[in-house]
Amino acid sequence: IRNTSVTGVQTCALPISGVARRLRDALAQPLLVEGQPVNVRASVGVALSPPDSSLPANLLRQADLAMTQAKRGGRGSVQVFHKSMDAAVHGQLHLETRLRHALDSGGLHLHYQPQVDAGTGDLLGFEALVRWTDARLGLVAPARFVPLAEEAGLIGQLGAWVLDEACRQAAAWDLRVPIAVNVSALEVAQEDFTQRVHDTLRRHGLDGGQLKLEITERLTVQDLQRVARQLAQVQALGVQLSLDDFGTGQSSVSTLLQLPLNELKLDRSLITGVAESPIEQRVVGALIGLGRSLNLTVIVEGVETPGQLQALRELGCGAVQGYLVGRPGPASMWTPQLGGPLPLELPERGGAEGGEALLN
Ligand code: C2E
Ligand code: MG
Ligand code: MG
Repeated sequence: IRNTSVTGVQTCALPISGVARRLRDALAQPLLVEGQPVNVRASVGVALSPPDSSLPANLLRQADLAMTQAKRGGRGSVQVFHKSMDAAVHGQLHLETRLRHALDSGGLHLHYQPQVDAGTGDLLGFEALVRWTDARLGLVAPARFVPLAEEAGLIGQLGAWVLDEACRQAAAWDLRVPIAVNVSALEVAQEDFTQRVHDTLRRHGLDGGQLKLEITERLTVQDLQRVARQLAQVQALGVQLSLDDFGTGQSSVSTLLQLPLNELKLDRSLITGVAESPIEQRVVGALIGLGRSLNLTVIVEGVETPGQLQALRELGCGAVQGYLVGRPGPASMWTPQLGGPLPLELPERGGAEGGEALLN
């Protein structure tokens, strides 16, 4: 039972959280289903009348909010409603309204960050990263609004816009290397995803090989099968597939085995101390070897220092991306460089000039 909400009344003889805990514990007793023991866990949200509300509909909504909060605290928690929860929901709703407006009125734009050969600095591609600057809220990080778009059912619209704009820019640059676009698994699971990719490539006169999709692994097993099917169709168009943020999720290796992939993208959290830590060096070296043994290219993201780059080269890393090579910036920042001789120069020291300030 995952969606249990309990509305208590203040006249209850026992303190309400005690009642909720007893209810939760009663539900936690194993049940026998066709002779098999089954364990259920309940998260309990409580709202009180008064003071929270005297309207049943409001009470249920508030208990529901408390329950959502309880679930975030781990299964089996009990949470009593508090006014701050309403405020948080209003904040989310406000953000959602502003995001809808941005999507409808062209309020988003893309920044681009180069991906280069770790040894030579040859340009291997650009990653497109969505940016939203709201007139009232200022710069809102994708880590905040992309999950919101997923929850609010806006991810299809957001993803379609990003894909279209990134492909338009790749065509305008006449880019010979792939443009990498982040896609949410929820988006990939949508029925028309393959068709949308196909149509967008055609609209901009691009080959499949000029596009790479970066997938993050926040997936359930059920999604995974559908996502794998859709991705295989997209891959058949020649599109490259990269598993983003590898090393951060809990299902990294099983995801790796189940999705059709061309590239493994190691998360920056794996390489923070790679210049000096022998353990990190061994782990990263092993992951590079794992990728190779599966015939995947391996790219490391978040490379910020020459020491990290040097260590990664010694570990046999083929491709890198990060502030050391170039911060994400608008297309206009990269256009002059693309007109000149490539590769991009790998700096000896410090971050590359230009581009945005640290976002994370
Ligand atoms: P990601 O795809 O793993 O992107 C890498 C993030 O690391 C970006 O953050 C980038 O600005 C940042 N970064 C790049 N180099 C460095 C570095 O050297 N050091 C540090 N500390 N950070 C670096 P950003 O742009 O805030 O994006 C965060 C996440 O939001 C992305 O992670 C991606 O998962 C998601 N995202 C961004 N754009 C899109 C999009 O268009 N669609 C979808 N579905 N998700 C997106
Ligand atoms: Mg990415
Ligand atoms: Mg990543």
